[in-house]
Amino acid sequence: MTDKSNSVQKTHTSTRNACKLCAPLGASLVFKGIEGAMPLLHGSQGCATYIRRYVIGHFREPIDIASSSFTEHTTVFGGGENLLRAIANIVNQYNPKLIGIATTCLAETIGEDVGLHLRVLTGSNDELPQIVHVSTPSFKGTHMDGFFSAVRAVVKKFAKAGATLPDTVLFPGLLSPEDYRYIKQVFHDFQMPLVMVPDFSETLDGGSWDEYQKIPSGGTSLTELENCSRCSAAIEFGMSIPDEQSTAVYLNDSFAVPSHRMAIPLGIENSDRFFSTLAVLSGHSVPSKYAKARKRLVDAYVDGHKYAAGKTAAIYGEEDLVCALASLMSEIGITVSVCISGCKPSSLKKALERTVPSVAATASILEDADFEDLMGFMQQSPVDIMIGHSKGYSVCRKLSVPLVRVGFPVHDRMGAQRIRIVGYEGTIELYDRIINAIIDKRQESSDIGYLTW
Ligand code: SF4
Repeated sequence: MTDKSNSVQKTHTSTRNACKLCAPLGASLVFKGIEGAMPLLHGSQGCATYIRRYVIGHFREPIDIASSSFTEHTTVFGGGENLLRAIANIVNQYNPKLIGIATTCLAETIGEDVGLHLRVLTGSNDELPQIVHVSTPSFKGTHMDGFFSAVRAVVKKFAKAGATLPDTVLFPGLLSPEDYRYIKQVFHDFQMPLVMVPDFSETLDGGSWDEYQKIPSGGTSLTELENCSRCSAAIEFGMSIPDEQSTAVYLNDSFAVPSHRMAIPLGIENSDRFFSTLAVLSGHSVPSKYAKARKRLVDAYVDGHKYAAGKTAAIYGEEDLVCALASLMSEIGITVSVCISGCKPSSLKKALERTVPSVAATASILEDADFEDLMGFMQQSPVDIMIGHSKGYSVCRKLSVPLVRVGFPVHDRMGAQRIRIVGYEGTIELYDRIINAIIDKRQESSDIGYLTW
């Protein structure tokens, strides 16, 4: 099953319970993090329903995503009319500041020329909201391809040259609203003005309402998007992002914005890199509350080492999350048996080689993979713990392996929006959950139950 390069060979051709989600879903999440924006999926209505189901299940918020609702006729003759009607309906019903269009598999397959349709529309109407289109063919990419492409598309739409601003722009990737709020607090404590793209810390995790809000308040403002190209620095979390999808690379190439690309700040090493970068950029030392949190994290590693040592793990999800988890595992003494993602072949392996070479050299790596692949692997090589999103639950249940839920989607538990993994504090929270899952499993299988070791 494993070749010399430790990439695992697939034993079947059909995908069952994929370890990825679809590209327009990633783009929709980005549009939900822009102030006053409305996502519009150009294609079949079912795609919008499927995506809403996943996003609502994870964030537990009402989610409006529009669709141009292709029919048989549209599929044969093109969806231009549907697109223009959908935009008119959205303007009438939602009055958005921005409409973010993502093309589904069907529109991509028939080769819809969305740019042409939009030129016809905007040429005859100067009262329209801003419109951004991002190409998101799911047959070529995952939700993270859609996510990164959408971030780059919205920044590109508003970018223009001008005097440099003191702000730092951060592209955090797909993290939880709680992580986003934590990052904003960190920048505040460093006294650094921040533009974050996207920012769904409020739009996808707000309070209860007295009246339904068609577009929840919050998100990166259009003014902030205009400022991105004039920021004094850009930080991007994600070592798997190809240059052509990286917004930091775009800003550096087109506007000479100094870029700092790094792993998700999970674990001590990755968090140290993030905090030291902020210290250099801000000219301030790391605030004492974070220095203290780092010490508590080291202490937690020491306290929990006897539970983690010698254990094995399967880690899965988005490439950058898997890399960050691999880094954490190498710090806490858990051996990574297998890394799995639905990403393109060699994408995860290359990212692991760049970020955690020790894990890249020893772990089995399943790319473009599904949970049948993981099941087959784990039946041959059992592990002590699985760490990843809820789609791996079927494997965890069949093989009685504890699952620590992290990533997207977590739709079979409460509180996915409040799972924090970044920084020293987020790492402690995840670390405690991992160690407690190991203790739980041992207690379950013990004759005496309560264990004090
Ligand atoms: S058809 Fe394509 S865009 Fe639509 S839900 Fe399926 S994968 Fe996503």
